[in-house]
Amino acid sequence: MDKILDTILKRIEEAGFEGYFVGGSVRDEMLGIVPKDVDITTSAKPDEILKLFSDFDTLDIGKKYGTITLLYQGEKIEVTTFRKDLGYEDYRHPRGVDFTDSLKEDLKRRDFTINAMAKNRQGQIFDPFEGREDLKNRQLKMIGNPQDRIQEDALRILRGFRFASRFYLHVDPDFLDAASLYGARLKEVSSDRIRQEFFGLLLTDQPSYGLLLMEETGVLKLLFPDLMATVGYDQKNPYHHQTLFDHLLCVLDHTPAKLSVRLAALFHDIAKPQKAFYGKDGHLHFYDHDKEGALVTDGILKDLGAPKKLRVSVSALIEDHMTVQRVMTDKALRRQIKRVGKENVLDLYDLILADAYCTAGPGNLELLKERKARIVELLDEDLVKKENFLAINGHHLLDMGYPKGPLLGKILKACEDLVLESPEKNNLQDLKSFVEENFKN
Ligand code: ATP
Ligand code: MG
Repeated sequence: MDKILDTILKRIEEAGFEGYFVGGSVRDEMLGIVPKDVDITTSAKPDEILKLFSDFDTLDIGKKYGTITLLYQGEKIEVTTFRKDLGYEDYRHPRGVDFTDSLKEDLKRRDFTINAMAKNRQGQIFDPFEGREDLKNRQLKMIGNPQDRIQEDALRILRGFRFASRFYLHVDPDFLDAASLYGARLKEVSSDRIRQEFFGLLLTDQPSYGLLLMEETGVLKLLFPDLMATVGYDQKNPYHHQTLFDHLLCVLDHTPAKLSVRLAALFHDIAKPQKAFYGKDGHLHFYDHDKEGALVTDGILKDLGAPKKLRVSVSALIEDHMTVQRVMTDKALRRQIKRVGKENVLDLYDLILADAYCTAGPGNLELLKERKARIVELLDEDLVKKENFLAINGHHLLDMGYPKGPLLGKILKACEDLVLESPEKNNLQDLKSFVEENFKN
C-alpha cells in the first residue's frame, strides 16, 4: 500500500502539481496507529486527476466536490482537489465548494487542529494550526471560532466527542460551550451523518467519555431523550451501587467493540425507570424492563436509520439480558441459542458478563464464563447448527391432514420445543405421534 501511495504522490508532483497525505492518516501516523484509510489532497483539478490516473479504475461520484476515488486492489484512495468552503446557506449544506490553489486554505476549512495536517512525499509536515502540538498535549481544539464552526455544521460536535473518546483528549472548554449553545442545530443534520458519527463513538475504547460529554452539553437529551430518565437515577436496590446512567456507561466500556453489543449495552436498562415499583422487600424492582427496553431501543434505532439486521440483533440481546439462572440445562441453553440467534448468543454473554461486572454483590462471573464456554460447545451440535433441524416439516403435516394456515406454524414450534428438550425425539415417527396426541385434526 505504501508503495502505491508513494507512486500516486510522485505522479502528481511530476506533473507539476502539489500533492499531500492529509487529515486522519497524518494524525494516526503521529500516534503510531496504522490509518484505516488514506486521503490525498492536491492542487490538481478533478479532470486533471482523472487524466493523470487514466490507467486506474476510478469512481467519480464525488467529482462535483473535487473528489476522485482511485481503486487499487480492493482499497479506495480518495484524491481531492484543494477546496475552500463558500460559506453556509442553511447551517447544513455548504453553498458549494470552490477550488483553491492554497493548501492552507484547504486545511483551514477542516474541523479540528489535529485533523488539519498534511504531509508530502518527502515526509515534510504542513501544520499551520499547530495540530501536532495539540496532539502531543492531548488537546482537542477546533480551527477558528467554535461557535461559527458548529453553526456551519453541527455534526462537528459529535465528531469532536468521537475523537476525544478515541484518543483520550482534553476538550477545549470553548468548544464545549459552543456545543452547549448550538447543540440544537444537530436537529438539522441528517440521521445518516449522525448515525455514522455516533456509532463511531460507541466503537472507541472508552465510549463512556463521549457519552458524558454528550450529557454535559445537552446533546444526549437532544438525540436520546429517552435516556435522560437514567441520568442520576438511584435504583434503590442493594445490588446497584451506581446511578443507572453510570451503570449503563460502565457496561458500555466493558463490552467488546462490536456495534450490536455496544448498542445493547448503552440501552439495555433504558426502560427501568418507567417499569420501577417497590416490592414488599422495600427495594425497587423492574419487571419486564428487558422486553420494554428492547422495544424502546428499537424505536430509537429506527429513527436513527439503523439497518434492520442490526436492530434485530440489538433487540434480541436486550430482551434476553436478564435470563441468567443459576441452573440452566443444556435444553434451556439450546432454546436460548434458538431464541437469541446463533449469531448473537455469544454477544449476549459478553453483555451479561459486563452487566454482572458492573453490578455490586456476590457476582457470578465464573459461572457466566463457564456458561459461555458451554454455549460454544453447543453451537457445534448439529441440532443447533442446522437452520432446519426438525425431522418433521409442513408437508408432513399437510399429508397428515392438517389444514394450511397458522396452525401449521404453531405445531412446528411445539415440535421444535420438544426436540430442543429431547433431541432423541427428533425423528419422524416420534414427532408424528407427538403431533397426533397434542393437536386435534
Ligand atoms: P477516521 O479515522 O475516523 O476516518 P478522519 O479524520 O479520517 O478520521 P473522516 O471523517 O474520514 O475523519 O474525514 C477526513 C478528514 O476530513 C478529517 O480529518 C477532517 O480534516 C475533514 N472533515 C471531515 N468531516 C468534516 C466536517 N464535518 N467538517 C470539517 N472537516 C471535516
Ligand atoms: Mg478517514
